[in-house]
Amino acid sequence: MKRLDFLMLEEQDTVPFNRMPITGYEEEQLIYALNLLKSPHSKEHLNRCQEWFEKELGCVRALLTPSCTHSLEMAALLLDIQEGDEVIMPSYTFVSTANAFVMRGARITFVDIRPDTMNIDETKIEAAINERTRAIVVMHYAGVACDMDAIMELAGKHKLIVIEDAAQSVMASWHGRPLGTIGAVGAISFHETKNLSSGGEGGLTIVNNPALIERAEIICEKGTNRKSFLNGEVDKYSWVDLGSSYLMNEISAAFLWAQITARDQIYASRMAIHDTYSKELRDLCTDGRIEVQSFPPGTSHNAHMFYIKLRDMSERNAMMRWLNSRGIKAPFHYHPLHSSQAGRKFGRFNGVDRYTTTESERLLRLPLFYKMNSNQVERVITAVKEFLL
Ligand SMILES: *Cc1c(COP(=O)(O)O)cnc(C)c1O
Repeated sequence: MKRLDFLMLEEQDTVPFNRMPITGYEEEQLIYALNLLKSPHSKEHLNRCQEWFEKELGCVRALLTPSCTHSLEMAALLLDIQEGDEVIMPSYTFVSTANAFVMRGARITFVDIRPDTMNIDETKIEAAINERTRAIVVMHYAGVACDMDAIMELAGKHKLIVIEDAAQSVMASWHGRPLGTIGAVGAISFHETKNLSSGGEGGLTIVNNPALIERAEIICEKGTNRKSFLNGEVDKYSWVDLGSSYLMNEISAAFLWAQITARDQIYASRMAIHDTYSKELRDLCTDGRIEVQSFPPGTSHNAHMFYIKLRDMSERNAMMRWLNSRGIKAPFHYHPLHSSQAGRKFGRFNGVDRYTTTESERLLRLPLFYKMNSNQVERVITAVKEFLL
């Protein structure tokens, strides 16, 4: 473990916003993976991780990918999103949520969010549906679930596909169901900024419909039936469909396996920091000085993020500068996609932007990462209070 210690070194004076989780189990797994790679075609870690997720999530197939962005692209291919289709999603999300579908020729219909969770407002979706609508893409912000009951019911009524961008939501759930397993396909991220990491970049495609398994395997094997060949079902493999290289490498999978092993300690550490923020900032909420995220009934979050909302953009920016002057890195988050250059080109906002823009302008994320120490948490809390008192 000694050789990884330099990664833990913290500059004394700054509190970073994020740190990739390093648990101490990674080195052993990486050395083991290196040895395995001496034998050709080893997929031991990949298979181990995929089987673990299939069991843990209770999904029909879990396929590790190079990133959540790739998983969303896979979903768009797998569900045959094409030119002329419209896809409904919130504007308050990451670019990949939209790009994956725009790349297949779809147009995006953005709808407003709910201010309490920053998630798509399920009551605004129906008005955005027309005869070209094919899919609803939800994004569970901060690992807090969208109202999946309302959304699945609406999708059923209008025969629409539901895709879950569960990038931030590993180990979070909706009425006990893991996020990413409720729609047809879900996508999770193991980017270094997420709760579990595969060493920098990585993702998971969650397939929930058994009818999609075979094609999902073909798409991530470059459009070939190589998987059937490796299973001995066909005697040679060939090009059968669209596809790309959507496979995670063994080194990343080994890193991820170490994190899976240490998931409880990562989760506990993040939860404790989240709880401390909630407790220590409660009075500021009661006094109406700030707002914090809320957790509607049925949601069980994963302490992915702790954000506060200030009065408006100018107060938010002043807080950000104040924290920065005290060595604390606290960033805002998404610029609404519908206002961006590409968003205007490839999509439109349906209905009134009542909350998307104004709420995103008020939001500030506080540092929260595995092994953030109590001094650092205290420093953030003190600085936030000093600014507001
Ligand atoms: C992080 C993130 C992504 C992208 O994940 P990558 O693994 O970096 O491609 C997509 N959507 C949301 C909501 C995210 O937070």
